Amino acid sequence: MSKYTGADCKLCRREGCKLFLKGERCLTKKCPLERRATAPGVHGAARHKNSEYGQQLREKQKVRRAYGNISEKQFHNYYEEAVRMKGNTGENLLSLVERRLDNVVFRMGIGSSRAEARQMVNHGHITVNGKVVNIPSFSVKVGDVIAIKESKREKPMFKDLKDVKVVMPKWLEFNANTLTGKINALPKRDDIDMNIQEHLIIELYSK
Ligand code: SF4
Repeated sequence: MSKYTGADCKLCRREGCKLFLKGERCLTKKCPLERRATAPGVHGAARHKNSEYGQQLREKQKVRRAYGNISEKQFHNYYEEAVRMKGNTGENLLSLVERRLDNVVFRMGIGSSRAEARQMVNHGHITVNGKVVNIPSFSVKVGDVIAIKESKREKPMFKDLKDVKVVMPKWLEFNANTLTGKINALPKRDDIDMNIQEHLIIELYSK
């Protein structure tokens, strides 16, 4: 009997790509997508021709889910902010979600998944510029110093951070000895390695 891998993996199968929702498991052969990439459900393996709207919808859902199931309302707010910003709206949208504090904690390797990073933020383990910030959607800016709160540093979850191997995006730095990191720049499109067609999301919202 195959091992139940939880609802998170169903989300990846639905989107047909790895959303990296379960930490280290996602990098091993235990990831169900290493074996099959069909959508969940009895008709999951059937071939469906996605309409233009369907493709746009799937792309939006993929990004929302990858970044921790961002609510529809909040995601639409990101879109509206992206429209107001200078430059390419799709790239602005991705930069905004990438700047979320829970994502930054994940990218720095402090949390093994965005879900774990979000919990760390919710529980008040993370400081920004010396103050506890317990809002996962908090948007970081250039120069912000992100750290693990002094009184929480002995917790088992932070013990082995020196051994964690992460590919650090160049807009971030993290020192596992001082348990402190910094935002060196705002994230650009090529800092985001996920396969996302952001123009489809913009088309969907522009209707
Ligand atoms: Fe599950 Fe992670 Fe694989 Fe997604 S990437 S299917 S969450 S193990």
